[in-house]
Amino acid sequence: MNALGEKLKATIAAAGPITVADYMALALGDPEHGYYTTRNAIGLSGDFITAPEISQMFGELVGLWCLAAWDAIGRPERVLLVELGPGHGTLMADLIRAASLRPAFLKAAEIHLVEISPELREKQRRRLAPLAAPSWHRRIEDLPEGPAIIVANEFFDALPLRQFVKAGGAWRERLVGLDEAGALAFGLAADAAPPGLSPPDAEGAPDGAVFEINRPAEAAAAALAHRLAKSGGAALIFDYGYAEEGLGDTLQAVRAHRYAEVLADPGECDLTAHVNFAALARAAAAGGGKVLGPVTQGDFLIAMGLIERAGALGADKDAAAQADIVAAVERLAGPEEMGTLFKAMAICGVAMSLPGFGGE
Ligand code: SAH
Repeated sequence: MNALGEKLKATIAAAGPITVADYMALALGDPEHGYYTTRNAIGLSGDFITAPEISQMFGELVGLWCLAAWDAIGRPERVLLVELGPGHGTLMADLIRAASLRPAFLKAAEIHLVEISPELREKQRRRLAPLAAPSWHRRIEDLPEGPAIIVANEFFDALPLRQFVKAGGAWRERLVGLDEAGALAFGLAADAAPPGLSPPDAEGAPDGAVFEINRPAEAAAAALAHRLAKSGGAALIFDYGYAEEGLGDTLQAVRAHRYAEVLADPGECDLTAHVNFAALARAAAAGGGKVLGPVTQGDFLIAMGLIERAGALGADKDAAAQADIVAAVERLAGPEEMGTLFKAMAICGVAMSLPGFGGE
């Protein structure tokens, strides 16, 4: 077992089993050994690849959406342009390049990044240095006041979720403890979970069913909605997940583009879970926001002009470069790739119509 594994085992031996959410938060965020602290996660040489790293077209189309959102809120002379969990800073860089079509927008935009990893902050700083001088924050609540246009790609899937398993007719929290050999192992809490922590159709679920709840994700959606309702603006969220709620274990570990064991090498694999968009939409509405979507990422990007953008980008390129662009369109929007599993959802301060969500 690696150093973080030993640390977790010692913690559990001393204080008892921890929740899946605690395990996820420590494996990803431990300041010494955590995944985001120690690994070069994103990209071909890393563990997983994200939409902005597949093609510049993703960030460019998001940039056009930001311009439309700025228009929709009456083109304020100062607007926060915010990204949550910016990774290598690629989405923000491509977005700013596309938005430079409208110099007045870039003049109004003040760049703010919400990021916990010091290593990734440094990457973002270097990546954006030619284009912008951002400010960093640890939490959404730390952002300054004012109208804001906010984007987030694969941010919510990294937030720690709790799991509950139906066992012996009751919902019990899934915990990470130690087995007889002293290795990390899943187990269940002795007591039944309180009623607020079970699914709507709790009675009907069979034994073995798994219910997931992501309070930090819901709190983030509510915080976005609250500030947008108060100060104006809109947020665009992309993630992999589901629009219709259901039961099931979606926690997964990925390493070098392959699935791995969740408990095997803490801190060495990316840990994520499917995003429950219905729960995010509910939290956003309760926070005072208006929700657009979710729609599939494929539908969103095509409505934003992905095919036209690919044509323009490929127009003066050779056949190999054109084939790469076609492949990128397929990866971003194809139903077998990211097009259907990934969703786009917007949270707005007031009801408004924005491109990408149909109806315009
Ligand atoms: N958006 C990027 C990176 C996705 S990975 C892309 O699409 O390539 C998730 C990102 O969210 C990383 O930058 C990670 O450090 C950050 N992150 C994870 N949990 C966070 C939290 N609780 N608060 C702020 N940032 C977080």
